[in-house]
Amino acid sequence: MVEYEGTTTRCCLCGKVIPTWGSKNPDPLRSDSDQRCCDECFTEKVIPARQVMVGQREEKMKKITVSLSEEFELWKLERIRDSFNAELGEESYSLEDVAQILLSDAIIEKVRTL
Ligand SMILES: [Zn+2]
Repeated sequence: MVEYEGTTTRCCLCGKVIPTWGSKNPDPLRSDSDQRCCDECFTEKVIPARQVMVGQREEKMKKITVSLSEEFELWKLERIRDSFNAELGEESYSLEDVAQILLSDAIIEKVRTL
């Protein structure tokens, strides 16, 4: 058994006795603030777990961003429909109508630039 100077603690992941000073934070594998882990466990277990978490967070952010931009498109479409209808003074355009008009305009615009 190796003796360390100063205080020692036990790696919360493998149970090895390690110096407290220089021990690592095992978050997210153990979240209690007084838990520490050794260098090997940190490299082999904690870092991969953190990378997985970052990946999941990015995936979640991507989904939120996509749904936000879809909502924004819908919001823009509703504003355009409202201004069409305000101009005509009646509720004559549906969202589908507006989408059709914008789509055909976009196609006409594309044909013009060819
Ligand atoms: Zn360990």
